[in-house]
Amino acid sequence: MVIELTTAFVMRCPGCGRLEVDQVNLFQLSGSKEITFQCECGTHKATIRMKGSSYVVVEYYCIICDREHSAVFSRKQFWTRNYLNAIYCLDTDLNLGYYGPYELINQELERQQEELNSMANDLGFDEFVNPEIMLEVLDYLDDIAASGRLYCDCGSHNINIELFSDRLELSCNNCYAFKQIPAAKKDDLEAVKKLDEIKVNISTKTKSF
Ligand SMILES: [Zn+2]
Ligand SMILES: [Zn+2]
Ligand SMILES: [Zn+2]
Repeated sequence: MVIELTTAFVMRCPGCGRLEVDQVNLFQLSGSKEITFQCECGTHKATIRMKGSSYVVVEYYCIICDREHSAVFSRKQFWTRNYLNAIYCLDTDLNLGYYGPYELINQELERQQEELNSMANDLGFDEFVNPEIMLEVLDYLDDIAASGRLYCDCGSHNINIELFSDRLELSCNNCYAFKQIPAAKKDDLEAVKKLDEIKVNISTKTKSF
C-alpha cells in the first residue's frame, strides 16, 4: 500500500485575488527541492521547502505588509490529516490562507460561502432592490476583505459591513470613517469589480466612489 502524503494549500493570489487550491506531496519536497506556487496570472504566491528532515518552511507573500513572511512548521503538523492550519500575516494576525487535508480545505471554503449567503439571507432577499447584484457585490467585497485590501484611513482592518436594500455601508470599528457602496444596478457591480482595494476614508461622510 502506498501512503500518499499530500497537503493542500489555499491562498488568495496577491496579484489578482483569485482563490486556488494547490496540492503538494511529500516526494516533491524530498531532497533539497523546493516548490513554488504561482497563480495562473503569473504572480508568485508561496515557496515551500524542507528544513532538515523535521521542518517545513513556507514563505508567502503578504498583501497587507507588501513583503514576504516566512513560517516554520513541524513536519508532522504540515502533513496532518486531522486539521487545518491557518497562514497568518505575522504583523497583523490577519488570515491569509490555509493548508491541510484537501477535504477540510474544501469544507472551509464551502463554509465561508455559506456564511456569506446566510448574511444576505438574514436580511431577506426580498428586501434587496436587486438580490443578485447585492450578492455579487458582497462576494467581491468579501474577497477584498479576505486578502486585507479593505481597510480604513486610520490603518485599521477592522471594518464593519452593513447591508441595506440598495447599498452596503462600511464603517471603521476603530474611528468614525464611513463609506457607502451602491449595490442595486449592474453598473454598481462593474464599479466594484474595478476596485483593487477599498479604503474607508475618515473625511468622506458623503457618498463618494
Ligand atoms: Zn493571480
Ligand atoms: Zn503581513
Ligand atoms: Zn478608521
